[in-house]
Amino acid sequence: MSQLTGNRIRTTAGKLGLPHLAETITEFTRRADEAKMGYLDFLDLVLSEELAVRDDRRFRQGLRLSRLPHHKTLDEYDFSFQPDLDPRKVKDLATLSFVEDRANAALLGPPGVGKTHIAVALAVAACRAGYSIYFTTLDDMVRNLKTAEAAGRLVNKLGTYLRPSVLVVDEVGYQPLERAEANLVFQVISKRYEKGSVILTSNKTFSEWGQVFGDEVLATAILDRLLHHCEVVSINGNSYRLKNRLQTIERDADVA
Ligand code: ADP
Ligand code: MG
Repeated sequence: MSQLTGNRIRTTAGKLGLPHLAETITEFTRRADEAKMGYLDFLDLVLSEELAVRDDRRFRQGLRLSRLPHHKTLDEYDFSFQPDLDPRKVKDLATLSFVEDRANAALLGPPGVGKTHIAVALAVAACRAGYSIYFTTLDDMVRNLKTAEAAGRLVNKLGTYLRPSVLVVDEVGYQPLERAEANLVFQVISKRYEKGSVILTSNKTFSEWGQVFGDEVLATAILDRLLHHCEVVSINGNSYRLKNRLQTIERDADVA
């Protein structure tokens, strides 16, 4: 490849928004020469590498904007610690067909069983697959919406929770809500209904949601929309947070 051609390809690639090609054209042509690559294989290599770089950049940017508390994956989840949880149920969710269907997923159970871990892992997988994601606790969402409402910016702020393809709402039920607050939650859930997925975690059963939302009618209206298309995963085991602590306490007791 002449220097002139190389320079022209770099300029054209830059104008076309193909920065990876602009940076690596010399390396690509060296590899093509070495492998005696045909034209189609060469073009295939260049385009697929450009796409991979672009996907990776979009994935990392998506994670940065998502406000996820961490980036744990399902590979890091020890299913043997929760024998009553069928791994297939969670792995089915990880295929993301519920996201494609704009349906919801609910992870229920007591503290420490890995509800947030699994919700985050599903969100990371969705982000990798190209979906936009956003993470919030229920309390943060309510607080932000209330502040925005008081400042006359509710519609604008609602957009934060309506735009992403996948909204993770963590910790439903930790704090009871007042009626006006529950109404803000209803607005988010009803506007997302059949438009985008919600992944929620809760330490409360659905029958306790009346207390959480301070109003049975509102709670029923929220549940009605959430549960119409929803995969529910209940995890009824021991807290992983206490695992090591309990082992230490038991060991110390044995020694004593
Ligand atoms: P929850 O949201 O149900 O209260 P978390 O998802 O926050 O629980 O889990 C608490 C901690 O324990 C996190 O650091 C999480 O990664 C870890 N954890 C929970 N369950 C498991 C598990 N089965 N295997 C590996 N780590 C787990
Ligand atoms: Mg949690």
